[in-house]
Amino acid sequence: MKKCSVYSLSTKDDVSKNPGLTVLAGPTAVGKGTVSTYIRDNYPEVWLSVSATTRAPRPGEKDGVHYYFKSAEEFDALVEDGQLLEWAVVHGKNRYGTLRSTVDAAIAEGRSVLLEIDLQGARQVKAAVPDANFVFLAPPSWDEMVRRLVGRGTETPEEQQQRLETAKLELAAEPEFDHTVINDDVRRAADELVSLMGLTPHQR
Ligand code: 5GP
Repeated sequence: MKKCSVYSLSTKDDVSKNPGLTVLAGPTAVGKGTVSTYIRDNYPEVWLSVSATTRAPRPGEKDGVHYYFKSAEEFDALVEDGQLLEWAVVHGKNRYGTLRSTVDAAIAEGRSVLLEIDLQGARQVKAAVPDANFVFLAPPSWDEMVRRLVGRGTETPEEQQQRLETAKLELAAEPEFDHTVINDDVRRAADELVSLMGLTPHQR
């Protein structure tokens, strides 16, 4: 994996973390998407990375806003050209990846960059950029996570079962992260994440 000089912006010593690049990951159905949507809508000072994906757009999703929607061939070309900082097959189906050039440019501009990605991707970013800030989004409890997954009704019972199996493994990854934010309330969790990025949560 190529390294880029803008990722070495920090640091006085190995303890301090690069405040310019934050990675948010966590188990399936924990609400990463909801927290990042809240941040996109309420915190324009956060530069939220738009990933490339081979998944088809859902109703209301716009190319370049929610994702860059790519064909399998286009995604292959991004991988071949080394244009992805990380990428992964998520839930055994579609590919998702972070576009290196847009993230490089945002960091170089001094923006506070947020990547909302899966655990496999977070591990790749950790290998490439160890001093980035890694935040684990955790559910308030296992039961609550099951309730959310079943309640949203977007997966078949078999898919739900498979995602819960994955979620068990994903929860065990929490110690790999610098911080844990509990998603008990989307606004509160988003505000805590923004504070961890070195920004000031909004007064309401
Ligand atoms: P969805 O299809 O529901 O939008 O996203 C499915 C999963 O893909 C989520 O867990 C999300 O965190 C993950 N994801 C989205 N973008 C990326 C990315 O660029 N890289 C990786 N590794 N995972 C991603």
